[in-house]
Amino acid sequence: MSLLVMKFGGTSVATLDCIRRAAGRVGREVAAGRDVIVIVSAMAGETNRLVGLVNDTSSMFDAREYDAVVSSGENVTAGLMAMTLQDMGVPARSWQGWQIPLRTTLAHTAARIEDIPTETIKGKFAEGMKVAVVAGFQGISPEDRITTLGRGGSDTTAVACAAAFGAEQCDIYTDVDGVYTTDPRITSKARKLEKIAFEEMLELASLGAKVLQTRSVELAMRYNVRLRVLSSFGDNDENTGTLVCAEEDIVERHVVAGVAHSRDEAKMTLVSVADRPGIAAAIFGPLAEAGVNVDMIVQNIAEEGRTDVTFSCPIDQVKGAEIAINAAREQGEINFHELVADIDVCKISIVGIGMRSYAGVAAKMFATLRDEGINIKVITTSEIKVSVLVDRKYMELAVQALHDAFGLEHAV
Ligand code: ADP
Ligand code: ASP
Ligand code: MG
Repeated sequence: MSLLVMKFGGTSVATLDCIRRAAGRVGREVAAGRDVIVIVSAMAGETNRLVGLVNDTSSMFDAREYDAVVSSGENVTAGLMAMTLQDMGVPARSWQGWQIPLRTTLAHTAARIEDIPTETIKGKFAEGMKVAVVAGFQGISPEDRITTLGRGGSDTTAVACAAAFGAEQCDIYTDVDGVYTTDPRITSKARKLEKIAFEEMLELASLGAKVLQTRSVELAMRYNVRLRVLSSFGDNDENTGTLVCAEEDIVERHVVAGVAHSRDEAKMTLVSVADRPGIAAAIFGPLAEAGVNVDMIVQNIAEEGRTDVTFSCPIDQVKGAEIAINAAREQGEINFHELVADIDVCKISIVGIGMRSYAGVAAKMFATLRDEGINIKVITTSEIKVSVLVDRKYMELAVQALHDAFGLEHAV
């Protein structure tokens, strides 16, 4: 019997009507002879509401209780989806993460999946059940506490289940009909891609394109899961979405595949740091211990033994970074004049495998931003991406200008 994984994101289960529509799609796959594992997110807005309740309750909350609260949205949709399918005459039941049990690491709020035992669900399929509805985003820790997989984590539940159960395909149903050259909310010129390479999708996701959680792409790449992104609202026949696949399976491509943006970045500078061996370790060690996700790092050339060190991190980690750095200063581990936080920046990135073999891509990006009068504050590059920090007020303009400059509106 062939097995399909179908994941429905928040907007795809936002109302009971949406759930019925999604269940209808599942029913059609069952009618075509497939067993289906359905992964559901919480109803649109529900996870944000739950996070808000946690923040309003306690500023220094226990991450284990955060997970207990925030994971609950998915429990509701899993039950509702199973009921809807049953009403349609489709044999279905729901599973919460702990019932499988979907085992994760102990890293509350950002746990990683370690193991998904398949026996129980496979046994139910053997008995005639047609659909297993699994609550996304959640699991259970080695200490038997509820964990969550980080925002957007239901994508990862879906791909991990597809790998564990050997599904023929993992379909991610969302509110756009595929992966675009950039976020279609930023420019109407964004173009849907038929295919995108795992490496490119991995970079786009980690640089802010939230259509897939980064970890889900990593898993799909590692376990060679056939991964598709498509709309839960579109017409069925023309709704082929975007296939995330191996680089070799894509014949023609632009040098740049897409433009990503990440809105909520901050730039922090330690002004006039006493430069000596070990200074970077003395700064970034405490930041790592404080759980600050440092992204870009720039150290200027020292003059008279002093230098500026700049790094970027998510805006909501600025407080934690300040506390960690000031503590290191008080302990005499670092010596600097001033710590300056710029919280009005965003990160804009261009991504493309073609960059490996074409020179001048970064130069073209910088010239495009210059022509728009946009000042670049920090730059980083890797083999297949270039990222810059710019003032947040230029975010849309920068994305649109780069999208135009690299001709992404038109197919190759
Ligand atoms: P879901 O609730 O289904 O998980 P998400 O909101 O997490 O959906 O992800 C879908 C959103 O991702 C889209 O509405 C779109 O605004 C955004 N997005 C950002 N970058 C891209 C891109 N390159 N292609 C498609 N969507 C993108
Ligand atoms: N509901 C969770 C979130 O909003 C997980 C997900 O939807 O993927 O982050
Ligand atoms: Mg999502």
